[in-house]
Amino acid sequence: MAGDEVAQAMTGADTIHRKAKGYRWEGVEELPYKEDDRALFKAITRQVLFADPQLAGELRYFEMAPGGFSTLERHEHMHAVLILRGRGHCLVGEEVRAIETRDLVTVPALTWHQFRATRGEPLGFLCMVNAARDKPQLPSPEDMAKLRRNAAIAAFLRDEVE
Ligand code: MN
Repeated sequence: MAGDEVAQAMTGADTIHRKAKGYRWEGVEELPYKEDDRALFKAITRQVLFADPQLAGELRYFEMAPGGFSTLERHEHMHAVLILRGRGHCLVGEEVRAIETRDLVTVPALTWHQFRATRGEPLGFLCMVNAARDKPQLPSPEDMAKLRRNAAIAAFLRDEVE
């Protein structure tokens, strides 16, 4: 994330950003999920909740509308995720798992991952990451073929897990 974007998201050095309506916070801008046009994703927004330069990490809140999904990707940095609202499924490595509110999900380094909201309700989660992190890798056609050899992953990728 560009430094000016962090500055924009974390206006001022306010100690408290009050909760606002729904899963929003005062003084925290709702941003597009990604600027990266290469990546496939659907109906997802991002809010950067904590990104102080003195922290080694950032805490973001992502929210997918019903049926929305994040990018299928991997990278050297980890994710520590807390599901804050709703439910859905996630792919982490070789496993597709149902996820619901207050579940914790660890995404290890260089592990394919994707989150999908159920069709009935939004899925919102907090995601902790390193402040300095590598750019996500997207799956090649060969990677996709390999993933689809697993029937559960294939169904998840076709959005047929409900
Ligand atoms: Mn990721």
